[in-house]
Amino acid sequence: MNVELETPLQYLKGVGPRRAADLARAGLETVDDLLHRFPLRYEDRSRLQPVASLRPGRPASVSGRMLGCGLRATRRPGFKIFEAVVGDDSGSLRVVWLNQPFLRDVFVRGQQVVLYGPVEMRGGGLQLTNPQYEILDEEDGETLHTGRIVPIYERVGGITTKIQRRLVWEALQHLSPDVSDALPERVRSARQYPTRYAAMLAAHFPPEDASLDALNRFETPAQQRLLFEEAFLFQVGLLARRRAAAAERKTLPVRVDEHVRESARRALPFRLTAGQRLAVKEIVGDMQRQQPMNRLLQGDVGAGKTIVALMAALVAMENGLQVAFMAPTEILAEQHFFNLSRLLQASRFRAALLTGSTPGASRKRLIAEISAGTIALVVGTHALVQGGVGFSRLGLVVIDEQHRFGVVQRALLRAKGLHPDVLVMTATPIPRTLALTLYGDLDVSAIRDLPPGRRPVRTAAKPESRRGEIYAFIRDQLEAGRQAYVVYPLVEESEKVDVKAATAMADHLAADVFPACRVGLLHGRMKAEAKERVMRAFAAGELQLLVCTTVIEVGVDVANATVMLIEHAERFGLAQLHQLRGRVGRSARQSYCFLLYQSPLSDDARERVKTMTETADGFEIAERDLQQRGPGDFFGTRQAGVPTFRLIDLVRDRQLLEAAQQEAGQWFETAKPPAGEVARLVRNWELRFRLIEVG
Ligand code: ADP
Ligand code: MG
Repeated sequence: MNVELETPLQYLKGVGPRRAADLARAGLETVDDLLHRFPLRYEDRSRLQPVASLRPGRPASVSGRMLGCGLRATRRPGFKIFEAVVGDDSGSLRVVWLNQPFLRDVFVRGQQVVLYGPVEMRGGGLQLTNPQYEILDEEDGETLHTGRIVPIYERVGGITTKIQRRLVWEALQHLSPDVSDALPERVRSARQYPTRYAAMLAAHFPPEDASLDALNRFETPAQQRLLFEEAFLFQVGLLARRRAAAAERKTLPVRVDEHVRESARRALPFRLTAGQRLAVKEIVGDMQRQQPMNRLLQGDVGAGKTIVALMAALVAMENGLQVAFMAPTEILAEQHFFNLSRLLQASRFRAALLTGSTPGASRKRLIAEISAGTIALVVGTHALVQGGVGFSRLGLVVIDEQHRFGVVQRALLRAKGLHPDVLVMTATPIPRTLALTLYGDLDVSAIRDLPPGRRPVRTAAKPESRRGEIYAFIRDQLEAGRQAYVVYPLVEESEKVDVKAATAMADHLAADVFPACRVGLLHGRMKAEAKERVMRAFAAGELQLLVCTTVIEVGVDVANATVMLIEHAERFGLAQLHQLRGRVGRSARQSYCFLLYQSPLSDDARERVKTMTETADGFEIAERDLQQRGPGDFFGTRQAGVPTFRLIDLVRDRQLLEAAQQEAGQWFETAKPPAGEVARLVRNWELRFRLIEVG
């Protein structure tokens, strides 16, 4: 039988329709898929031990001859034991398999076998119980399951690790060692990597001298080579997409002259920080180019991204273009609308708000004005680009706090034939490698400084027993004219129960703890107008204490609030805690964050709380978050726009990803692929990393 990498797995010996279906469910359809799936780990079964040297209590590999075997009934009806005696030159021992009567048809006396399993003391003698076994063929001296370092695979449906091992072996045996190599020869030899076939073979069936430790850390040359190959192909695809995007014509260019600059200056209520100025410069630079901008603006909570976006918006509007400003929730859209409208007062432009709760009549009118081009700036949720809103001259799209969806929205815009400049803003600092991987086709601006006069928020973790002190502290702050938040997590799976808990707490705080203060409540189940009323009242200082569920997590901005009390801090993730803390410390006044936790803390929760008290640097926190949670959780699994890697682990393989990015860049320089080839690379890349569903 001849096997190619593209061969569907059902053509492999031992794969019937049922196994093929099991494999397909795990995403394994071709030989290529099967071979590019690392074992979970490796086990050393290479040292064959003489029977006489065995000791109870640890697993052992032995090789010997089947001296006798047979099936034995037990007192339990239907429960049978297959018993054997296996011997080598040094002695013999009993081998027992429980409830596997079919072994009667597998073993016969005189066979040479290799066994691996736990050694036990039973009935005064040593016994191997339920060992993995292999019958040595006279012709093929190879053992797969014992007598070597063996791969352990994750079980797939009904397919055990042992069956998988056999399948992988089968595929490798019938695959040509000259199988085409995706890695350019220059790159391969420069990094002293084995050939593709040799790497696949050694990654699944390591040679005798391989180090078990290195294998289990996925650091052998064979494993590294396969990882690098995936990273390289990924980076080449990213670059190709960039090239393809650069070739797209931008239809609506932007000019910046003294008039435009003056207009922007007029709208500025304060001096920009150095970080903000640089970001504006980079963004406006992009906007003046022929190709559409694709830029990510990173900046910690409170860094002042909004004003930067507004500067870009003014440049677009002064050039007669429209701007769409999108926020992840209605409440944030409303807040942006409120802030932007205020900032635009000094200009000749008007902003409009369009969300799901805009009433039908005004909605219709707004949509008409947008398509007529008389509204220059529209603030809304992502429904803005998804719905039937047709812009007349859409020049700039700003997407706030939504890096995860930026990719989708760009694809949607493109599908509509629009190529506006896109600015994605995020306060979730993304660790460098991830940004590199996820946004390799984006340019990144980062605001690293904070507006002047900000002081780091003082953070303390307190157990329940200290609640009284915290309340006393909050009372002092409220009496001094400040405001405070009390935040509740998603305690139960149901939002209803949470709302109840938050409501009860608000009542309790208002009636018993802070009777002299005005206490408000904000939660996700409230109607949009009610939410807005509460938010406005809090922003205006009419409410002093705001009890809320996590709806305030992103973006809400009330500079006079100086205390953040987080209830059940142990239940929040790091990113969320950081976001919540960012709601305070937004003025020159000292702010405070209390993490109130319920004992006992799990190790992870203790680590999170500790991180929060140790650092305020969002990038540092994001790094630790990624370490703790792993990339799957960090972004949520199967998040649109997050590539699906077969081998790469975004945390473990970061350096490799960076090295691959460099190599990919060099490859592009030297190979200079023509447009058709670039388009093909992009297509393959989208398919391979399952990014195609996005569009
Ligand atoms: P974020 O980056 O979290 O979206 P915002 O844009 O909401 O931050 O800005 C946070 C607060 O800081 C706002 O009240 C804003 O007016 C203020 N701010 C932003 N930039 C400056 C600056 N250069 N000087 C003074 N205050 C600023
Ligand atoms: Mg913001």
